[in-house]
Amino acid sequence: MPPDLDVREGPRDECGVFGIYAPGHDVSRLAYFALYALQHRGQESAGIAAADTGGYIITQRAMGLVNQVFKEHDLRALGGDLTIGHVRYSTTGSNEWENSQPVHRSAGAQGNRRELALAHNGNLINAVELHAALRAKGVSFTSTSDSEIIAAALSEHPAGTIEDAVAAVVPTLRGAFSTVVMTKDRVIAFRDAAGIRPLVLGQIGDRYCVASESCAFDIIGATYLRDVAPGEMVSLSESGLESRMVASGEREAFCVFEYIYFARPDSRMNGTVLQAARGRMGEILAREAPAPNADLVIPVPDSGIPAARGYARVSGLPQDDGLIKNRYVARTFIQPGQELRKHGLRLKFNPLPEIVGGQRLVVVDDSIVRGNTTRAIVQMLRDAGAAEVHMRISAPPLKNPCHYGVDMSTREEMVAHGRTTEEIAAHLGCDSLAYLSMAGVYEAVRGSSERHCDACFTGNYPLAGTDIANDKFALERSLPMAPAGTPAPA
Ligand code: SF4
Repeated sequence: MPPDLDVREGPRDECGVFGIYAPGHDVSRLAYFALYALQHRGQESAGIAAADTGGYIITQRAMGLVNQVFKEHDLRALGGDLTIGHVRYSTTGSNEWENSQPVHRSAGAQGNRRELALAHNGNLINAVELHAALRAKGVSFTSTSDSEIIAAALSEHPAGTIEDAVAAVVPTLRGAFSTVVMTKDRVIAFRDAAGIRPLVLGQIGDRYCVASESCAFDIIGATYLRDVAPGEMVSLSESGLESRMVASGEREAFCVFEYIYFARPDSRMNGTVLQAARGRMGEILAREAPAPNADLVIPVPDSGIPAARGYARVSGLPQDDGLIKNRYVARTFIQPGQELRKHGLRLKFNPLPEIVGGQRLVVVDDSIVRGNTTRAIVQMLRDAGAAEVHMRISAPPLKNPCHYGVDMSTREEMVAHGRTTEEIAAHLGCDSLAYLSMAGVYEAVRGSSERHCDACFTGNYPLAGTDIANDKFALERSLPMAPAGTPAPA
């Protein structure tokens, strides 16, 4: 049966953030292009907040891609000396405009609150408790995003400076948060003590900027300086760059799936460019799981391409493109109808019978979540004449949900949940299936489990209290105005 095109397949990207303090530069335009480079991290909404030093913060955000949300006149209107920006996939809360970012909190009439805008990548695992505590103090909210909780806590905090407010609030937050905040005269960025989601620091001229990934710096001509350290806060202002540690006590737990899947291949993380790391994953996969009788290696484009190259290099097999991907496919809101639906994934992938016909194929992909897409690809390749289909995956089996900012389906929906590799292969309809080992992933990224999170593969959640963590809609359900139809807990 062809897959339902409405069904979410694959891990969903999370969010991307950017911030810059650079009077004399066209900062809104820089933010636009930085977000354009980070588009892969979130396609549901985009937003930019900007201010002239000492002026008002203007925020524009809307549902859609960066180039749909902002037009030339919008960037001119935003202007300013400092900006922050955000692209979003809804890891917390529904896909609603109210949950898009940056979140803007205005100053109180009695000067009892500070005006700020905030953008966040990650997920708080104590969002419900924090939300309840703030509501008990009379703080009101307009959204169901955990980002507004951080914004409200910082806006309401009585500390004399935003830096002191961040230092006081961060220890109350539990979970993953790579965050940028702006007031009228500075941009602050901070990262949770485990450093789960990425955040990097760059320089443009004598000014500074921060972003989720270094690819955002390449597009605007900024230089990558270093990662923002786990638990570190950096403050970008007229004084230049200041740094302070605001959180500690967690072991480092950088998301290993950033290397495998999420981040752009041209981004650098922990000193390695991801295209090279993914190539090494393919090489190690070829060593661990050879397919001696195969004729040809093909990738599942685009995500499987670097690993397929690595697999071909080590196995000595030729490599070609047996599946062509429609590069302009995004989420479609037009349903294909019955006639087209029977073609299933051909909206996204088209096999080439001239390449795959009669061949014993090694098909390399980076991950399998629910298996619907992989099953359809296997069938499509057989229909195109492939003699054998051997799936090779450059990551271990995904078996556990992520509570740190990535939407991955529930445990029960994952094809590897409760199945052996042989049973998964039978379910997918392929001739053989093999995954890269966890040790192989760490060899490829030149890291270790002591300094990374690999919970979606191993079940070892690095933060205490994660097992009872909120799911994506926990905050909405905890509110009296929870919209009807909010999904029940997984
Ligand atoms: S559970 Fe998986 S996706 Fe989530 S932070 Fe850990 S490694 Fe990354």
